[in-house]
Amino acid sequence: MENVEALLELNRIYVEKFKMDPKEKLRPILREMKNIKTAVENGCLQQEQLLQRIEAAEKEAEEIKNNLPKLMATITKGKERMAVVKGMTLKEMLSIQQAVANAEESVRQGEEKIDLLQYDRLQYLSELHQANAAIAELKLQYNEKVKVYQKEKEKLELQYASLLSQEETLKDGLDTKILHVFNEAAKVVPASPVAILRNGYCSGCRVGVSCHKAHLVAHGEVLQRCDNCNRLLLPVSAVGSHAE
Ligand SMILES: [Zn+2]
Repeated sequence: MENVEALLELNRIYVEKFKMDPKEKLRPILREMKNIKTAVENGCLQQEQLLQRIEAAEKEAEEIKNNLPKLMATITKGKERMAVVKGMTLKEMLSIQQAVANAEESVRQGEEKIDLLQYDRLQYLSELHQANAAIAELKLQYNEKVKVYQKEKEKLELQYASLLSQEETLKDGLDTKILHVFNEAAKVVPASPVAILRNGYCSGCRVGVSCHKAHLVAHGEVLQRCDNCNRLLLPVSAVGSHAE
């Protein structure tokens, strides 16, 4: 009877071991980590785009600024010439006047554009600060998830190690022949190597066994395996009134 109890306990350990798929348990955490990583990558892309926009706005404003002295010179020169109208045809005068007006308009537009570019640049900078903060926060989150992952992994490993140690102790106490039969059954059905024979049927695969085998099992012969699923068969008395 000791063997029977040990076999039931061993089966429980095998069931637990089989259910305990670390990859399956860690998958949700890994998925979250991946999502955070993707968000960081998107944030970095946004950062880069904003930096490019800032640079482009600065460059454009700089070009306009650099062009302003030339326009100012045109205006000054034109005004100087207009002050001395002597010997100038009306056509020449109008032409100079037009050039001055054009230059003045260009200066006005240029200054307006510089203001707009400056405004845009500040907008981009503010967005960049936000992106930087978001990325920093995501990185913190990621580090936290790594910690959770490692902790969970360690926990699973400890649980698994504890099951293995219980398994070893039980196997040490088991009759050698029975252990061999159990190991053979576990090779075929690692998810639950032991089944109960109830009314001539294997509880593992619901297939009936021969009367001879049923008789042997019922009389405590624990070396019998189901012909169909290869599980080690225990008599129904093994689980008493409990459900298996
Ligand atoms: Zn079976």
